[in-house]
Amino acid sequence: MLDYVDLEADLSEEERLIRDTAREFVDEEVRPDIGDHFEAGTFPEGLITEMGELGFYAPNLDHESTANVGERAYGLLMQELEAGDSGVRSMASVQGALVMYPIHAFGSEAQRERWLPDLADGSAVGCFGLTEPDHGSNPSAMETRAERADDGGGYVLNGSKTWITNAPIADVALVWAKDRSAEGSPVRGFLVETDRDGIETNHIDGKLSMRASITGEISLADCYVPAENVLPDVSGMKGPLSCLTQARFGIAWGAVGAARDCFEAAREYATDREQFGGPIARFQLQQEKLADMATDITTAQSLAYRLADLKERGDLRPQQVSMAKRNNVRTCREVARTAREMLGGNGITTDYSPMRHLANVETVYTYEGTDDIHTLILGEDLTGIAAFE
Ligand SMILES: Cc1cc2nc3c(=O)[nH]c(=O)nc-3n(C[C@H](O)[C@H](O)[C@H](O)COP(=O)(O)OP(=O)(O)OC[C@H]3O[C@@H](n4cnc5c(N)ncnc54)[C@H](O)[C@@H]3O)c2cc1C
Repeated sequence: MLDYVDLEADLSEEERLIRDTAREFVDEEVRPDIGDHFEAGTFPEGLITEMGELGFYAPNLDHESTANVGERAYGLLMQELEAGDSGVRSMASVQGALVMYPIHAFGSEAQRERWLPDLADGSAVGCFGLTEPDHGSNPSAMETRAERADDGGGYVLNGSKTWITNAPIADVALVWAKDRSAEGSPVRGFLVETDRDGIETNHIDGKLSMRASITGEISLADCYVPAENVLPDVSGMKGPLSCLTQARFGIAWGAVGAARDCFEAAREYATDREQFGGPIARFQLQQEKLADMATDITTAQSLAYRLADLKERGDLRPQQVSMAKRNNVRTCREVARTAREMLGGNGITTDYSPMRHLANVETVYTYEGTDDIHTLILGEDLTGIAAFE
């Protein structure tokens, strides 16, 4: 397995254990039929509780229902899951970084007690509703709104969210909405149980990317939630944006896993496949591709490791996460394309992983801040001048 500059030599016992557990899980539970799920456009739903039992949801949170491991261990977990499929890593990312993290960081004690144990073991599924049909890259322009109910105690939500991972199977949706009853209409987080009146979640069909992942819409029509369902400790865009920083950290690691899986498929294929009387790996053109891929993956992997160190000591800035998300997903996109090319005609099938990863990475390139948006974040950080508008 590619680890060209021996980064894994420095792993602790615990980190090795988590990496190996996730790697074994992917080999035994994901690889055998992920191609079929991708073709069918289904998520292997049996894995949801299995991943919970293995402690794959937000193990980096400090809570009695989670494993409380370090950031590097968490990163390795995301890396190994995405080596299986981006849809599997997305499941863990959304549940952990986008639902459990905000409940842990900004929730009340009652909200933590109600949701964290069930989300941690996979007996409940959560989703994160930020994107709207007319507001993707600029979520601060969101139209979904909350108004105080007539009883004065709760809120009534109206609006719609789209492209929401796991919405159709979620038990709880964390919906970000503007609180019209507060001065300045700040964005607040609302925990909406999906069996409430006034909320509907529909499946989005026709995806050609991230096919082994469930995606949907959320419609809110006069949906009442009690006041105790509001995340009490955050107000404004800081709420959703801090969740995205957590998830993007996982994506920076995950992209390394998908890229590595493509590289390994290409390396194996090149040494097995014979043309012109010998393996294609003997051709300099193929060796150059492998050399470029290995170098780019190693660079991305090094950045991910550094990010984990900064996060562990509390020094990680969101802009640094943007650099890693942007670079590592770009690398993955390029590596997946080259690996697919090296597999010739066989490369376009689900018998091999590169084309599936290549299709998936189009989503990863777009969600959690598009490549363009991360470019602008870096541009602003480097110059002090914002170029978003
Ligand atoms: C499979 C999948 C799962 C998803 N899961 C979730 C989820 O769980 N929860 C959630 O809330 N969202 C989710 N998303 C939504 C995702 O985050 C958005 O698609 C993304 O933020 C981009 O928004 P958009 O699609 O509206 O594109 P737009 O914002 O309309 O962008 C279109 C194009 O314009 C470019 N662009 C936009 N603004 C600028 C600018 N200022 N300068 C230069 N170029 C610009 C973009 O880079 C892009 O190329 C998911 C998306 C997909 C595809």
